Amino acid sequence: MENFETVTVETDLLILGGGMAACGAAVEAAYWAQQNGLKVTLVDKAAVDRSGAVAMGLSAINQYVGLRDGKNSVKDYVDYVRNDLMGITREDLVANIARHVDSSVHLFEKWGLPIWKDENGAYVHEGRWQLMLNGESYKVVVAEAAKNALLKSGVGEIYERVFIVGPLMDGDRCAGAVGFSVRENKFYVFKSKATLVAMGGAVHVFKPRSSGEGMGRAWYPPWNSGSSAYFTIQAGAEMTCQEVRFIPVRFKDAYGPVGAWFLLFKSRATNSQGGDYMVERKPELEKWAPYGRVKPIPANLRNYMGMLDVMDGKGPIYMRTEEALGKIASAYKDDEKAYKKKMRELESEAWEDFLDMTISQAILWASTNVQPEEKSSEIAASEPYFIGSHSGASGAWVSGPEDLQTDETRQEYFWGYAHMSTAKGLFCAGDASGASSHKFSSGSHAEGRLAAKAAVKFIVENSAMPAVDRAVVEALEAAILKPLDTYEQHSKETTDPEINPNYLKPRAFMFRLQKIMDEYAGGITTQFTTNEALLKRALELLAYLKEDSASLAASNLHELMRCWENIHRMWQAEAHVRTVLFRQETRWPGYYFRADKPKMDEENWHVFANCQYDPKTGEWNMRTRPILHIFPQPKEHESLGG
Ligand SMILES: Cc1cc2nc3c(=O)[nH]c(=O)nc-3n(C[C@H](O)[C@H](O)[C@H](O)COP(=O)(O)OP(=O)(O)OC[C@H]3O[C@@H](n4cnc5c(N)ncnc54)[C@H](O)[C@@H]3O)c2cc1C
Repeated sequence: MENFETVTVETDLLILGGGMAACGAAVEAAYWAQQNGLKVTLVDKAAVDRSGAVAMGLSAINQYVGLRDGKNSVKDYVDYVRNDLMGITREDLVANIARHVDSSVHLFEKWGLPIWKDENGAYVHEGRWQLMLNGESYKVVVAEAAKNALLKSGVGEIYERVFIVGPLMDGDRCAGAVGFSVRENKFYVFKSKATLVAMGGAVHVFKPRSSGEGMGRAWYPPWNSGSSAYFTIQAGAEMTCQEVRFIPVRFKDAYGPVGAWFLLFKSRATNSQGGDYMVERKPELEKWAPYGRVKPIPANLRNYMGMLDVMDGKGPIYMRTEEALGKIASAYKDDEKAYKKKMRELESEAWEDFLDMTISQAILWASTNVQPEEKSSEIAASEPYFIGSHSGASGAWVSGPEDLQTDETRQEYFWGYAHMSTAKGLFCAGDASGASSHKFSSGSHAEGRLAAKAAVKFIVENSAMPAVDRAVVEALEAAILKPLDTYEQHSKETTDPEINPNYLKPRAFMFRLQKIMDEYAGGITTQFTTNEALLKRALELLAYLKEDSASLAASNLHELMRCWENIHRMWQAEAHVRTVLFRQETRWPGYYFRADKPKMDEENWHVFANCQYDPKTGEWNMRTRPILHIFPQPKEHESLGG
């Protein structure tokens, strides 16, 4: 476009995103860049202080192994993650993060994050792996350290409010990224020796439960829209676990967290008849053995048991807040003063849990006169999300660290640089890297640090700047800005610029995507159930949607961002549908159910389901990768073999 300035930035390491993984990467990269005379550039579509999933704050750090206390080992954490993911996990990646995550948490505390301590000065645990914190400023604290590391050392620069669209490639090597400012007419070309993708996961791929006046409210932050997946898919990187979506059960409508209730307050959830589905439906777990037999029961199975009650007409499901608080306070019942004091303390902890990370849930409680010590609150399964760092697992297939490989795993899981995707020079962390779930905020930060260190090693050993073809950049610029041209050209042709035979606006495009995914790929409308015929129809409809994406129109820079966010979501959707179709079984009931393949098939599908897009031919290649172990297997899993 004529009135656009093209800004070219050359750097050694390009960090994409400004969330937990990117902030970890920035801190580590700044140190190694100083040692090696390198430049580091971080680009975020928002402002790093409050961007990403931790923007609103968190009330718990979900991954702390506590190695220094000697209570848990790295293997314990790997066992937990493997079981929660129904056997599908990369032990080398999970172990690499688990052995480093504590140091990220200790850094957070050093930087000023108030983690709860008990009277002996020990961290207060919410559960075995979780720490309680006063976390409304969690992201600000972590961002400040990242900014200080990059800017005060003089090695780095930060671009905020620049939306990254896609990769620049030099053959099979990533050569940087392109994007645009969401505030000024500037198109950005970032050329780099190594690129670290940390642009989070994806929401609003599926139709959300909150629509109409609640539109935009979701569990996952609406501004993470599948950019990591799009970037790595377009770079030709192999992707893994694209079928593993996450459906959190949360307080209904405002998506308030349940962790503190289940783990700290030891609350039960019951149906409208007072039945406890975790007790009454226990026999169901046997169908999903060996995973269903292990404690903690995998998150998808816990979801599933509640969903079965709802499908049987026993809803709503209630979090029994009044029962849980009453039970804790009952220890003080003989002393009225102490009882009242304890109740006040519990009540304030309950509200603070929401105020620290999901303020809207506190607002909903207040506006519907809920007093948690008096009244239960509804909980419900939300819609599907892609969040490989939480209890999902989707992301790029990345190399593990060299020192953790066995002779067997080395062949499959190691190709030179830890956390590098199969595209050369393209590193991934947090939601961007797959098969290593349960990293959460702290593990994503740790993985960012690990990936950044490996990326610096890559740069030192591959020091030539990759070549970028000018004609390719010009074509990308024209294609990326096209929605602005389309609007300019046609918007005056109808009385209402929202409706036009020559284009569609991003909002309508998103609604169509969500409808396809909801009805055909197992969304809320079908109780997360799908089958081969539905999935094939989804692919057919996604192909039409892809065709129509060329007609997207944007009236301003904000809408241009919306256009590209939705294209990113569409590619995440396609990778998901293809992989659910490819995996001929149901492995994660509670996340999705293949009605035509209703059972788990350990013999044939105890494997990773991977996909890879070839940008040259436009073809997708589906393949399996073996599950190999670096640790001895727990007894109940021994029969599973490799
Ligand atoms: C609702 C919710 C509750 C959670 N609760 C907890 C908890 O209690 N404890 C815990 O430890 N963890 C929790 N997590 C998990 C934790 O937030 C994530 O694991 C972690 O934030 C993932 O880090 P990330 O860097 O991959 O993504 P994020 O932290 O989400 O960062 C993504 C970054 O990418 C940027 N970005 C996105 N697209 C683009 C683009 N196109 N161009 C440029 N930049 C882009 C974003 O602005 C953001 O800076 C929770 C997550 C959610 C969603």
